[in-house]
Amino acid sequence: MPWRILLAKTDIWMPLYIRDYLVDTMHLTAEQHGCYLLLLMHQWTRGSIPSDMQGLRNICRLGGDPEHFSSIWNILRPFFSDNGDSFVQQRLAVEKEKSEGRRSERSKSGSLGAIRKWGTEEERNKLTRSERLANARRLATHSPSEWQALLFICENRCAKCNQSDVDLVKDHIIPVCIEGASDGIDNLQPLCRSCNAAKGNERVDYRPNDWKEQIAKRLAEPPNNGWQTPTPSPSPSPSPAPIERNTLSLLPTEEPQPKFSSQAAFSIWNQHCGILPKVEAFTEKRKRKAQARIKSGLTEERFLRAVRCCTEKPFLRGENSSAWTATFDWLVHNDENIEKAINNPYGAGGTNGKQQLKGNFTGIREQNNRDAMQRALKIATGICDPGAM
Ligand SMILES: [Zn+2]
Repeated sequence: MPWRILLAKTDIWMPLYIRDYLVDTMHLTAEQHGCYLLLLMHQWTRGSIPSDMQGLRNICRLGGDPEHFSSIWNILRPFFSDNGDSFVQQRLAVEKEKSEGRRSERSKSGSLGAIRKWGTEEERNKLTRSERLANARRLATHSPSEWQALLFICENRCAKCNQSDVDLVKDHIIPVCIEGASDGIDNLQPLCRSCNAAKGNERVDYRPNDWKEQIAKRLAEPPNNGWQTPTPSPSPSPSPAPIERNTLSLLPTEEPQPKFSSQAAFSIWNQHCGILPKVEAFTEKRKRKAQARIKSGLTEERFLRAVRCCTEKPFLRGENSSAWTATFDWLVHNDENIEKAINNPYGAGGTNGKQQLKGNFTGIREQNNRDAMQRALKIATGICDPGAM
């Protein structure tokens, strides 16, 4: 029977309880693991493995010395039960039955509707990610405001590992490859890339229990309360398949990017500020400051670069005589500070900020004079009262 047809008839995944597997197989070598897994996969697709040595060897793709395979099989044999003319690994057989049960139930209840909506299983398997996403969007979509509110509620952290200074991606709790998974806010949570990549078939909702109420509350608030981006342009239209705009550009996406917003600047700082102080509240004053920078031409790329400089340049991250560090407030205080963070004069990766500072502020002659240095620091950093924002 051709492989393709086999795959269409059986599920294309096989459950592997990784921890149990590793515990049960601690005594196996890499070669024995390979053979064992090939045998399990064979059982998953055919129902059992043969009992003759040649058949087993073929499945394990082990030519050469039959004695060698025989020694491997002696190690693996205890994992399988004798079924008369074949062997089965019991747990996998049970899982297979469960899976078949689920399949037939599924096909009884909704295969006709599903085929109408999604095409046949074979067709579905051929769908690309963007096609699956388009299907998910036909079921439901979310607005940028909803996503921003969700990020706010999750404190711009990965909902699973709680890390904050990481890129966050939109995770579909029920993956879009599953029938009925939507692109609505009900099915989305922010995850860091590594949690998202390690997710597999998991469908756990890591959001706070009351996320729905919190979102409703946020969305009911007026737009200028410090969390919501003022009408991103272009705003999503109620067309049949609205394209979701990723206002924070947290996703690797081919969709067009919207204009840089003060809310995005706020998120970027909190995600990338590393050891520097996070911004707790996105106040009106902070928002106005960030908007002023954006108005005078600050782009998202440039802001991200400035934030990275703040975390990388020794002087800016506190290696100076007064242990002053860059902050969000300092960075957005004026255009000069953005410029200073990127180009002047604090030293990158390991250079001595103070030494560079000396070179850049020619007015300072008495380099050993502590007062002069402090003054220079203040000029350079444009220190402003953090309480002022
Ligand atoms: Zn994570």
